Amino acid sequence: MRSRSCRPSLPAILLLCVACLSLPATTWAQAPPPKLSVHWEELTASDFREGIHRSQGVCLLPFGIIEKHGPHLPLGTDLLDVRFAALHAAEQEYAVVFPEYYFGQIAEAKHEPGTMAYSRNLQLALLQETTDEMARNGCKKILIVNGHGGNNSLLPFFAQTQLDKPHDYVVYIFDERTPRQGGPARTDKLDMHAGQSETSKMMISHPELVHPDRAASESGADQARQKISEDIYTGIWWYTRFPFHYSGEGATATRELGEYQMKFWIDSVVKAIQQVKGDDVSLKLQKEFYEKSTHPLDTQP
Ligand SMILES: [Zn+2]
Repeated sequence: MRSRSCRPSLPAILLLCVACLSLPATTWAQAPPPKLSVHWEELTASDFREGIHRSQGVCLLPFGIIEKHGPHLPLGTDLLDVRFAALHAAEQEYAVVFPEYYFGQIAEAKHEPGTMAYSRNLQLALLQETTDEMARNGCKKILIVNGHGGNNSLLPFFAQTQLDKPHDYVVYIFDERTPRQGGPARTDKLDMHAGQSETSKMMISHPELVHPDRAASESGADQARQKISEDIYTGIWWYTRFPFHYSGEGATATRELGEYQMKFWIDSVVKAIQQVKGDDVSLKLQKEFYEKSTHPLDTQP
């Protein structure tokens, strides 16, 4: 049987409440906000609401791919690296980060094992539904952080065609992975795919998945088999030059270069998040544009 004396008396409860209310305001102000995960999938529903509020509606969609990366790097290199950079950036400048996304353009690697190449219509439809659903959940500014060169035509096209009908959100595309100058010297002249830079970055994000001893087992040289000038574009250009999905010399990678480049990438994404948070023009003018586009003959001059 419980003793009655264990229960706090009513006056004692009232005293406690008075004590709480009389705490100086600074005590409340100094309490740090509870730490929130930046991972969309790790948040509870109510924490997600707080995350959207804290991020000012800015959500990141790190965009990777699944394709061969030379003889020495994992298929998910672009996905793993872009998520490493985006997640670390969002820890510094809070934003909600969408789960793994790798449904991009990679038709040119379909002859290699392990490639996941979705059809053109599905790439666009899935990306549109994904950003629509993100926006329905409060992401009014969606920053797509690209980690795969094969998306370089897809993503600006996707962003440009957001103007074809009204959306209550803005799509931003960002791709700044490798510094053009500074840091440890780059000795790999090609350095495009699974080369010195990409291998060095993987040595930082997922060193256990890098196989430096295999890096020289295939050629990453330019095969230069297409004899037309570079200002004439064909879809087969990559295969004519780099049929082994390797461009550069992964064996020249170093952790020192990886540290420098990964820090550059994270810092670049932090600055991009800050710019997007501060952008109060794009959404407003986008709305104005959509409205005017319904009656073009009335617009001036
Ligand atoms: Zn890559």
